[in-house]
Amino acid sequence: MSGGDMAKPLLGHRSMEGDPHITPASGRTIGVLGSGDFARSLAVRLVCSGFKVVVGSRNPKRKAGLFPSAAEVTFQADAVKKTDVVFVAVFREHYSTLCDLADVLAGKILVDVSNNTEINHHKESNAEYLASLFPASTVVKGFNVVSAWTLQSGARDGNKQVLICSNNQEAKRTVAEIAQVMGFTPVDMGCMLSAREIENIPLRLLPAWKIPIFLALGLFLCFFTYNLVRQVIHPYIREQKNKFYKIPIEVVNTTLPCVAYVMLSLVYLPGVLASCSQLYYGTKYRRFPDWLDQWLQHRKQIGLLSFFCAALHAVYSFCLPMRRSHRYQLIETAVKQAVEKKMNIWVEEEVWRMEIYISVGIIALGLLSLLAITSLPSIANSLNWREFSFIQSSIGFVALVISTLHTLTYGWSRAFDENQYKFYLPPTYTLTLLVPCTVILAKVVFNLPCIQQRLLRIRRGWEKGRYVKFVLPSATGEYSSGETSSNV
Ligand code: NAP
Repeated sequence: MSGGDMAKPLLGHRSMEGDPHITPASGRTIGVLGSGDFARSLAVRLVCSGFKVVVGSRNPKRKAGLFPSAAEVTFQADAVKKTDVVFVAVFREHYSTLCDLADVLAGKILVDVSNNTEINHHKESNAEYLASLFPASTVVKGFNVVSAWTLQSGARDGNKQVLICSNNQEAKRTVAEIAQVMGFTPVDMGCMLSAREIENIPLRLLPAWKIPIFLALGLFLCFFTYNLVRQVIHPYIREQKNKFYKIPIEVVNTTLPCVAYVMLSLVYLPGVLASCSQLYYGTKYRRFPDWLDQWLQHRKQIGLLSFFCAALHAVYSFCLPMRRSHRYQLIETAVKQAVEKKMNIWVEEEVWRMEIYISVGIIALGLLSLLAITSLPSIANSLNWREFSFIQSSIGFVALVISTLHTLTYGWSRAFDENQYKFYLPPTYTLTLLVPCTVILAKVVFNLPCIQQRLLRIRRGWEKGRYVKFVLPSATGEYSSGETSSNV
């Protein structure tokens, strides 16, 4: 399923009020088979949305108290007779026990809300199985992606989308109307073949986050090992100094900004590679390699993980003075000073470096927070395309530049200090600068007028070596057409 399909509303944006062709869904009687968690939440939501609800249970007397008083709880056959739309809130393995109801269910719409316990658990989807048991009824798959909890709390909270599919357009439209009246956004997923995919959705664990999380963990592991060697192993081997206490906070805190900074640059690197590809081939119609496509699609998650690491770095840094080791070191320095009778330890350069370093760090974190907040669907939906791209692209790039300043003021002249090369390993910050500086340099080059113009033309459909039709106004104001090479 593509992101585009997900965004396609089933009923469009027109209001149902005042449309003579649409009968108002609210007010009609809806049946619910089953009296479990889902059935109860569904009944509450339907009643609150103005529907009459009739619940079919094997044991109505015992279950009636669990439902709102406005809902009628009766025997299954009795309930089904009173409605044209029946939500089957029963597990797949119990569908066959409903076969006695086949006659009363004939000609009615059955909404299959079921989920499985494993991805692709059965050969056919639950909805197809239900349709095979009740051939005289029309089955619509839907509502399985919302939980009982979301149903109860209403569509204010949680996922608002309800994915719907069926082979019958009319039945699908009816269920979509019901979903809309309940405050959900129905999304047309096409015919019944999509049911399998819809049933798999609730079982997938963060599918879009897997690659970014592995990337973040991989970077964390690499930088952590590198910092561990430099900050702990080196003093232990070379000077027999025990610095292992640094592992939980100091080493982690020098690793987090490295991951955050490199991840931020990895948000913008695929855009640079895509521009290079377009410039090289002179067209925007050539497909990017799959890995680049995937990378472009994961930018939001990579950016959010970058923000997460930066936020952790800020909290860790804030807590550094709370450590006992820090207090001992402060006292030790003070005593040394007293012994050496040093009165003035103020180093002007160091003071300025730290002031600038902390200030740009705070600004970078602020900008990253802005990027993270505007990537949330609820906020992103309130922005137009220009605003969204300005924040994510331009402000994002500024965040990368400011993070680079933060890194440079942290490193200062350490790259030129021989003592900083532990086991011949350069200071960590010099390594982190590689990718971000490449991205910044590439962006500067792409903004040179000659390259920017060419990129703009390519993105408007111009192609290298292609002949295009042109239309020129004549002296009389009329238009004449002809062919020319777009290369000219
Ligand atoms: P549940 O609490 O176990 O309820 C299932 C209901 O099925 C029972 O209360 C029972 O009601 C009825 N039933 C009918 N014939 C049955 C039989 N032969 N044996 C046992 N029970 C029978 O389950 P649930 O959580 O409500 O889930 C119901 C359906 O909704 C499932 O297909 C599930 O995948 C789907 N769903 C649930 C959630 C959720 O958040 N819970 C979310 C999405 C989808 P009576 O005893 O009154 O007949």
